[in-house]
Formats: sequence, C-alpha cells, structure tokens
Amino acid sequence: MEYKEISTEVLIIGQGAAGLRTAIELTREGVRCLVLSKRAHGDAHTKWAAGGINASLANLDDEDTWAIHAADTLREGQFLCDPRAVELLAKKAPDRVKELQNWGCDFSTTEEGKINQRYFGAQSFRRTCFVGDRTGEAMLQTLVKKSEEMEIPTKVNTYITRLLIREEKAVGAIGFDMETGEKLVFKAKTVVLACGGFASIYNRSSSRSDENTADNVGLAYEAGATLRDMELVQFHPTGMIKPDDMKGRLVSEAVRGEGGHLLNKDKKRFMENYSPEKMELDARDVVARAIFKEIVAGRGTEDGGVWLDISHKDADFIKERLPKLYARFSEYHIDITKDPVEVAPTSHYAMGGLKVDFETGETSVKRLYAVGEATAGIHGANRLGGNSLAETVVFGQLTGAHLAKIINSMETNEVEENLIQDSFEKVAVTINALGSQDTKKLIGKVGDLLWEHAGIIRNPGSLKNGLDNLKMLIQNKNGVQSKELLGTPEDWENASNLSFILLAAEAVLKGALKRDESRGAHYRDDATEKKEEWKKNICYKKEGDSMKLFTEEIPEIPEAILKALKEKYSLNYHHLE
Ligand SMILES: Cc1cc2nc3c(=O)[nH]c(=O)nc-3n(C[C@H](O)[C@H](O)[C@H](O)COP(=O)(O)OP(=O)(O)OC[C@H]3O[C@@H](n4cnc5c(N)ncnc54)[C@H](O)[C@@H]3O)c2cc1C
Repeated sequence: MEYKEISTEVLIIGQGAAGLRTAIELTREGVRCLVLSKRAHGDAHTKWAAGGINASLANLDDEDTWAIHAADTLREGQFLCDPRAVELLAKKAPDRVKELQNWGCDFSTTEEGKINQRYFGAQSFRRTCFVGDRTGEAMLQTLVKKSEEMEIPTKVNTYITRLLIREEKAVGAIGFDMETGEKLVFKAKTVVLACGGFASIYNRSSSRSDENTADNVGLAYEAGATLRDMELVQFHPTGMIKPDDMKGRLVSEAVRGEGGHLLNKDKKRFMENYSPEKMELDARDVVARAIFKEIVAGRGTEDGGVWLDISHKDADFIKERLPKLYARFSEYHIDITKDPVEVAPTSHYAMGGLKVDFETGETSVKRLYAVGEATAGIHGANRLGGNSLAETVVFGQLTGAHLAKIINSMETNEVEENLIQDSFEKVAVTINALGSQDTKKLIGKVGDLLWEHAGIIRNPGSLKNGLDNLKMLIQNKNGVQSKELLGTPEDWENASNLSFILLAAEAVLKGALKRDESRGAHYRDDATEKKEEWKKNICYKKEGDSMKLFTEEIPEIPEAILKALKEKYSLNYHHLE
C-alpha cells in the first residue's frame, strides 16, 4: 500500500481544548509536535461547550477553595473519581482560567472587573466562569489564536484509524486524508490521544453525530491500553426534542443555573417531589431520572418531554446570560423570554475512557498518553458541569510539561515497513467487512439498542438482551474480505466509526451488567442503592479476541479534601429563586 509519511516528535490526535493546550505547552518548551483533527482547525467538539469552566477563584463567594471544589467533585462522582487527579484539577484550574483570560478569552466580568462566576448544579459555591453561553467556543478560539501565534503545525481532515505499536510502545499512527483518501503514516517518539469521548454512541445525544464516536476507545483498546469506568455515561437532563434535526441538542444547565424551572404537563414544578431542597439544581443524574420518571408516569408532554421555563426572569437578563440559546430558539420561532421549551434527557458525556496517570498523562501502553475527554478518572460516577473544560486545560498543560521534560531521553523510534503494511491491512479487513453494509444504519441501530438496554434506568435482564442483540449485529459484520481498502473515504470514516462504536457499546453493556448497584449516573432498578463493595473502578482490556473486565481499588483521599468533605459546605439553593 502506498502512503505519505510525516514525522514529528509528539503526535497529538485531537485539536480540541485538550490537544491544543498540550501542544502550546510543548511548543513553549521547544518540543516539535503536530496536532491532527478530523475537522477544520477550531471546529472541535469543545466549541459546543456552553455553560462554563470551574475554578475556585472565589470572586463571588469568598469562602470557596480548591479543597471544596475537589470535595464537590468527589461527592458528585460518588467517590469513584481518582482523588489525586481531582486534587490536581481543583488546585490548577484557577491558574489555567486566568491564563486563558490573559490570552484574550473574554470571560464575563463583575462590576469590579473580576471574572464572573455562576451557579452550576451540585456545587457548593458560584464557581463556574463563563463567556455567556458560548464558553467552549471562546476558549477554543483563544487556544487556536495562541497556537497560530506560536506557529504550531496542524493537519486537518485527517482520520486516524490505528496506532502503530512496536515492542509494546506507541511509535506513531496510520490514517487517511478524509478529502483525497490519501493514506497517511505518522511516525513519532510519542503519541497523545486528545480525541474526545463516546457520548454519541447513543442515538439521542448532545454531541455532533460524527464526533465523540469512541475513537479514544477503539484506538487505545486495539493498542492494548486499559480502559476504565465505561459503564458510567452521563445523561444530561435537558436535551431538545424538536425539531427532529435538533433532537438531543443540549439546552445548557446554565438555564437552570440562572433560575429556570422544570414543569410537567400540568405546569407543576415536579422537582419538589424528587429533591425539595436542591430542586432543579440537584445533580444531573437525579434531575434526569426525575424527568424520565415524570414522562414514564404519563405526566410528560405529548412529544415525550417536560417543560423548561425561564420566562419569569427579566427578558434583558435572559438575553445577556443565554444569548446563544435565545438566538437558537428564536430560529424556531420560540421566544424563551416568554415561553417554556420542551426538553428530555440526552446522552451527554462519557465518564469512561482511558486509564491514565494524571500527573503525566501516561496510559498503560508505553509512550501513549491521553488528555481531556478521552480519559477516565476525574468525574467518577457523575461529572460536575464545568469540570471537563477545566480538565482539558489543566491536564493538557501538565502532560505537555511532563513530555517536554522527558522527550530528550527518548530515542527516535524505528518503524519497520512490515509493521506499517500489516497495520494498514488490519484496518482494511475491518473497514471492508463493515463497509459492505449500511454502516450509518448500523450505527443508528447500536444507538437505539443502547438507549433501550443501557439507558437511564438499567436492568440485568435487559442488559443481557442488549449484549445478545449487539453480538448479532457484530456477527453480521463479515462482509467483503480484502486487504486493500475498498470504497470512498466517507465509507472508511463510517466503517471506522462503527468499529469503534461497537467496542464501546460492548464495554458499556458489560460494565453496566457487572456493576450490580446504583451509583451516580448508573442506575439499576434491581439494586437501587449504592454498595460499599462497589466503591471501586471497573477496568477493561483486550485479551486475545475477548474483552477482559477487572476491578481496581480507589486511592486514598488526600487529607485537605477529607477535611472539606466533613465541613459539608452547601449552596443555598433558595437564594436562586
Ligand atoms: C453540547 C455540549 C456542551 C458542553 N458544555 C460544557 C460546559 O459548559 N462545561 C464543561 O466543562 N464541559 C462541557 N461539555 C463537555 C466538554 O465540551 C468536552 O468534554 C471537552 O470540550 C472535550 O474536549 P477535548 O479536547 O477532550 O475533545 P474534543 O473537543 O472533542 O476534541 C476532539 C478532537 O479529536 C479529533 N479526533 C477525534 N477522533 C479522531 C481521529 N480518529 N482521528 C483524528 N482526529 C480525531 C476531533 O476532530 C477533535 O479535533 C459539553 C459537551 C457538549 C457535547
């Protein structure tokens, strides 16, 4: 097979906030890197993040500290988070936010000129820094501008299909140009996966359908890396229902953070029955299950949702705080300053992903690193809104700094031709087998299957059925056998997406079956309580042709966070009325 070869020191797969922040740190330290993406520069999924980024700046509530931020994160993660990683996140987020502001990110500010902070669900203080409801877009623009100023090399429209692993070390990756179909080989001393998560394997999702397609899972699992927490998927309470092409799109938590109410079809604020203290601002899993139960009980709208209403707030305030949402609904002739909008839960964020050592970003495969949503460990059983944007820049900086320190001690890798040819052949066999079918339809079927069998409320019988049904879909993948890639680049993209999605779906179902308790976003109707013996992580690894699941204990919680947990700080929710 013919291909174009490109060499660099650090290959970064992903141009979202995590990939770019890693690249900025490396470049600042004089290390050569190349940042790849499937889409245009500045068009990564990060752009869609709306509500904000958490940092205990204590600009509005001066009692806030990093330790209370960490305590909130562990509590919301139901103690499945890696406590040392959470400590790093909470300690370093303030510096990363201030740095973004220095680089030109136009955070909303208070009258005294400090960065403004808003309420977000399940947090003890106003901690979420924001740029209206376009925080991710503003952050990404800032990072793109900075990386352009630093002349960081990037390559777009590039789809990575497989990592090159030699002697159990990552030495590069192969892929193709999504426009021309040219085969590409990237050789590097080390590879960083910053390729996002897998929330869009569910067919009603707040992600774009062609992103968050489990590339992190597929690429790393095939390379022999350990995954963790795959069973833990966050369902955001408020996704759009109508129109069809907007189904699942996020209606930001900022609406509830700014005082929005959830109402059932009788216009009753039903959260009173589920969480009278915290109401709409309880944790995402609690609110999503409450909405789900209202709908199942027949108190939902005709289209299978509930109402989200912020019209009791001043119209100018709404337009100032939620400008994008106001504009988006206006396009559909809905004025959110006057009318409620219809919403239902949507798959939003995968807490699972690659197991990494957060101080360095290293995965269980040598010279393979990961950052951002591709990883697992910060969010435990439930992610606090605002923590993932913080994660991207905190761990991007840390991983970049670590790699810069050790890069000179790494020898340049030999990458033999037969490794390259063998890798292309393996990819071709998978893509051809899947690509001879209607891959888009199959992706839709997996998405339906997951909603039905591994959705908001799970049950062992249904999970087993889901696995059986998935096996049937996988058995059908024996299509055309060929070691030469057939079809168009679009066919290859769809078939690759499907192969990654199938793996992630299998892991989600298997893990959800194994974890026979309810914790955070994972809710089993046959075991509705938390079990002490399940205060551990499920890990996933390829062994031969099968997926091996095993558990790992959670490290000790650092003293300062334990102290903050005992203090029981808590937001005065009624202040929001
Ligand atoms: C609608 C929405 C709203 C959100 N709002 C918030 C919020 O308010 N606050 C918050 O903290 N978090 C929020 N999140 C989550 C947050 O946006 C993400 O977790 C974060 O932006 C992920 O950044 P990332 O850099 O890890 O990955 P991404 O931004 O997803 O970037 C992934 C990159 O990898 C590339 N890539 C993927 N696969 C391949 C491949 N095979 N080959 C080559 N390139 C590849 C992509 O093209 C892209 O460039 C939200 C998420 C969604 C979906």
